[in-house]
Amino acid sequence: MKLLQNKVAVITGGSRGIGKGIVEVFAKQGAHVAFTYNSSSEAAQALASELSALGTTVRAYKSNAASFEQSQELVDQVLADFGSIDILINNAGITKDNLLMRISEDDFDQVIEVNLKSVFNMTKAVQRTMLKQRHGSIINMSSIVGVQGNAGQTNYAASKAGIIGFSKSVALELGSRNIRCNVIAPGFIETEMTAKLDEETVKSWRDGIPLKRGGTPQDIANTCVYLGSDLSSYMTGQVLHIDGGMYT
Ligand code: NAP
Repeated sequence: MKLLQNKVAVITGGSRGIGKGIVEVFAKQGAHVAFTYNSSSEAAQALASELSALGTTVRAYKSNAASFEQSQELVDQVLADFGSIDILINNAGITKDNLLMRISEDDFDQVIEVNLKSVFNMTKAVQRTMLKQRHGSIINMSSIVGVQGNAGQTNYAASKAGIIGFSKSVALELGSRNIRCNVIAPGFIETEMTAKLDEETVKSWRDGIPLKRGGTPQDIANTCVYLGSDLSSYMTGQVLHIDGGMYT
């Protein structure tokens, strides 16, 4: 049996990395998927057409998650195309790393807007639909860095810690309507985001992982299947650490 048969999922930042892994695994588990991208138009369209062969509807939408208006327009369009939204995964994110001494106001603001404000934008946009349906699962992508901090990532850590507080509050506000909201805190996952790091940083991250390997997008996607499906129907307001044992 497919765990997400006929559920409709909206996934932000699905053109590559973790988001792409989630789109692939969700389509294989029978979900209809609407996913967004910011600039990778070609990769996004290729992914959508490749996965449509699996028999579910997979569509790519260009939408800047940091924009309140674009998020609302996206949700309206997805509802027109798919009819409902059962699962929202706020995955889109960026880094602009620098030490506090050197970081610019613009780099701080951009990371907060794309990583944290986007979660507010999208959650607010789907709320009415999920309230009417009286069900929904919202999954927000935080990071181990949001829990334990990281030198050179004050902006990113603040955005990812903010996601946890936001999600726990949403879980409390919407639980009575059977809308669940949980957080995933990935550790070191090998994607284009981490490919930017220098070798020494990567080695020190890897050395600190009890399972002795970096994570894959599929590791995170499998947790999303659990949180999006009815298998997790009694779980809300939680932070799942998917990090090979880094955070203990
Ligand atoms: P990635 O490879 O850099 O991919 C980022 C995705 O987000 C891309 O699809 C990108 O679209 C999209 N995106 C960026 N800005 C956007 C915007 N303004 N609006 C809509 N989409 C936007 O990153 P990743 O490693 O897969 O990370 C995915 C999420 O996991 C992020 O929230 C990240 O913070 C979190 N995370 C990652 C790790 C890790 O080790 N990789 C660890 C902890 C948490 P385009 O292709 O169009 O730019």
